[in-house]
Amino acid sequence: MSRVSTREKYWLKVWNEKHAFEPDPVTGKKKIFVTFPFPYMNAAVHVGTAYTASKLEFYSRFRRLQGYNVLFPWAWHWTGQPIVGMSKRLREGDLAVRRAFIELDGVPETEVAKFADPEYLASYYTKVSRQVMKDTGFSIDWRREFRTIDPAFRKFVEWQYFHLRDLGYVVQGTHPVVWCPFDKSPTGDHDRMEGEGVSPEDFNLIKFHLGEFALVAATLRPETIYGATNVWVNPDAEYSEARVDGELWVVSSVALTKLSEQKHDVVPVRSFKGTDLVGRYAMAPLTGKSLPILPGKFVDPALATGVVYSVPAHAPYDLMALRDIQEGRVQVGRQIKEIAAAIAPIPILSLAGYSRVPADDAVKKLDIRDSMDLKLEAATEEIYSAEFHRGVLSQNSGPLAGLKVADAKVKALELMAKTERLGKIYELPERVVCRCGTRCYVKILENQWFLNYSNPEWKAKAKLVIDRASVFPEEARQVFYSTIEWLNDWPCARRSGMGTKLPWDKDWIVETLSDSTIYMAYYSISKFVNLEKIGPDNLTPDVLDYILLGKGNPANLAKAVKTTEKRLRELRNEFTYWYPVDLRNSGKDLIPNHLTFFAFHHAALFPEKYWPRGFGINGMILVEGKKMSKTKGNFVTWQGALQKYGADAFRLALALTADGMDDADWRDRSAQDAKGKVEAVIPFVEKTLKSAVNRNGNALDSWLISSVNRRIVTATQALEQLKMRRASATIFLDVWNDVRYYLRRSEKPRKQTLTDVFNAWVRMMSPFTPFMAEDLNHELGGRGLVCQADWPSPKDFPVDGEAELAEAVLGKVIEDARNVLNVVKGPRTKLNVYVASDQARDYFFELASAKKKNENVGQVIKKFSSLKIPPDRVFRLSFDIGEDMLGKLLSHRGFEEYDTLSQASGFMSSELGIEVVVHKAGAKELHDPANKAKDALPTKPGFYLE
Ligand SMILES: [Zn+2]
Repeated sequence: MSRVSTREKYWLKVWNEKHAFEPDPVTGKKKIFVTFPFPYMNAAVHVGTAYTASKLEFYSRFRRLQGYNVLFPWAWHWTGQPIVGMSKRLREGDLAVRRAFIELDGVPETEVAKFADPEYLASYYTKVSRQVMKDTGFSIDWRREFRTIDPAFRKFVEWQYFHLRDLGYVVQGTHPVVWCPFDKSPTGDHDRMEGEGVSPEDFNLIKFHLGEFALVAATLRPETIYGATNVWVNPDAEYSEARVDGELWVVSSVALTKLSEQKHDVVPVRSFKGTDLVGRYAMAPLTGKSLPILPGKFVDPALATGVVYSVPAHAPYDLMALRDIQEGRVQVGRQIKEIAAAIAPIPILSLAGYSRVPADDAVKKLDIRDSMDLKLEAATEEIYSAEFHRGVLSQNSGPLAGLKVADAKVKALELMAKTERLGKIYELPERVVCRCGTRCYVKILENQWFLNYSNPEWKAKAKLVIDRASVFPEEARQVFYSTIEWLNDWPCARRSGMGTKLPWDKDWIVETLSDSTIYMAYYSISKFVNLEKIGPDNLTPDVLDYILLGKGNPANLAKAVKTTEKRLRELRNEFTYWYPVDLRNSGKDLIPNHLTFFAFHHAALFPEKYWPRGFGINGMILVEGKKMSKTKGNFVTWQGALQKYGADAFRLALALTADGMDDADWRDRSAQDAKGKVEAVIPFVEKTLKSAVNRNGNALDSWLISSVNRRIVTATQALEQLKMRRASATIFLDVWNDVRYYLRRSEKPRKQTLTDVFNAWVRMMSPFTPFMAEDLNHELGGRGLVCQADWPSPKDFPVDGEAELAEAVLGKVIEDARNVLNVVKGPRTKLNVYVASDQARDYFFELASAKKKNENVGQVIKKFSSLKIPPDRVFRLSFDIGEDMLGKLLSHRGFEEYDTLSQASGFMSSELGIEVVVHKAGAKELHDPANKAKDALPTKPGFYLE
């Protein structure tokens, strides 16, 4: 369990006793309902989970201060393979899994010993994670907590699937799916250890005649057949002769399993080593050429058929494998060496920007030395893409000559189909490994249950959900649209793991991503379940129809399930009060599946007024600049970070990390900085108030009040748009700097001004550092809890444009003076500052405003010609000071720069470390030995050092 300081413990207890975060419906009170995708309980929650969830935590606390009734609930995902798979790997003695539990997640060995039971494993992590989140001060309503295996939740999932089936959105079909042969189950994205987002692709099967057999190669590029020089097999792999769909085939033995799983009729005949094929000749289709079979260790027998044909002019792998033999890097018999020596690449297409052998160009460019070089992947990708988009088949490509690659592909297949039966094999373009540790392949599953995401009507409705919602940041919206576009039918059930059985086909369990699409609605029910006011037996589909859709008669339903009508009305009220979800926040990796499913299912099941209103998306977590990984030694658990920095510092460090979809870089240095800041606030406030006096406010007080107004406005807008970094930087850096400046600048800081500012500041800090804020609020004599106070209103901090202008001009003059001091060397004791004369000021105003209004500037220049100040200097200055200051100057013509600067001469002296004397140009008996006064303009005085 995590260590919690006594202060933290104290406030946790107070919040808990006051039920500060346990909202119930309040008629007439505006609400905000935020949710986070429940985490899988197969591992410890980590700094990435904390980063994504913290956005909702800060948002919730902020909205509460704004007066909303805010619900932030939490639940735990136990469904599917993630938990069962970890447990299985541990039982099988997987040391990496064991080490991860003990060394990375910090689980005691005595507990790991019990992890062979997946439910125990999940309950352990649930217990630890809940405590860690509580100790971090997350303002969660724990009364609504649940796990996805809870009997009442299962009732809710069943209700959902009955409806989806009735609507025609769950259909039975026969489709290729990613399959785990160990679990005998489709393997969804979140059930995978490797290969998330990978889906089946079909490869063409091309038959090379080998006596009465067909040596079957798989390819994505049938149009290159005229450039084929040989066929590759892996000499060490096992191959088989088999009768496939009535024909005699030779393929790798593992390919036979896949072919039979993909609905081919397969009867194995005999198996042998790949080396037995080496040195024989096979006849290519279409060209009729006899090609030698050569050994290639790069051929993966588990990929497609384990047989590939070689096109060295256009495929970098083939070129390097051939050269490995030709140049003696691979040991082969004399006969093979001679055959290989006679082979030259056959270029079959022309490609602008490349030589006749593009593969050779790519290999040279990347300095690739042999066929085991990992850069071959990049070379292949480059050539494949360039040829696909720009390549044209050459004269030696027979009937394909002159065609573009895309057209040649179709034509080649058409022509081959005239002489033989063409085949396809489904394959995964990248390795996919199930959470149980088994490599997956593609199986054609008959009569499997699919969510019908390819349905155009359903797609259109899901798109409407996105159209009508806020998306933070806005650029994520497009990613939703494109996901909706390409999303295909989704296998929604699996055979193994934990979860809810499909109510009408109990052999199947609803898979992890498919049982978590509308569960936010269940938070309105789980409160009643946990308080034992309603039980799973009461939650029949009819009752759920009433609670969630308002259908049916509550009196009759209550009678049927032995509860009261009042109870059912309460449940209905709870749902209609909290729904819809106002904001769901998640990492960007969940847009292609979970978040989009969330939109689809709400569109299917609920009327528009209950569709989600806001989607928040953030980037992924990096640790010390690198992707966080359990194997790379940079894994930071939530608990570890909490213990190291304390709750407030951990929270502030998360807030300051990143905004938008940028990846967030978690660094120890930054977290230590945040810790330093959090610890310094209260001593700073105490010391400041001690030094303050009771007096009337002056222009500087107005300036501080005015700046706080700006900070409140900026922080409020940033929080409303989930820009936590911007908001927390405004509050913890900018406000602090404003107060520091005020203290330096004023001889006698005013107690009332500072008290007002600190009272606002503590409320602004409280969403981010709630423990310290409660302490500070207490120090400041604040009544009640700061987490239940009001968000500061900018109206209480009036803007004073002239005071802002005065400090801005002073700041600019100090900066200019500093530059002068840096440039001029030698001994000096005094800095003379010459403020513009009234005439020079009028000149500046008239010229700048004439220019701004596009009026004739000639007359103005003429009028002030006696000043001998070139108009270009005025134009440049009015550009350099920026729109904001220029606007303020023009709207405060009565602003007396001389008064401000001369009154601040003591401050300027201490800031600059030299005596400062302020003069006004044009004054009588002016001390101006270097004649610097005549050039002075507003905000740009003359300087003379002596
Ligand atoms: Zn598996």
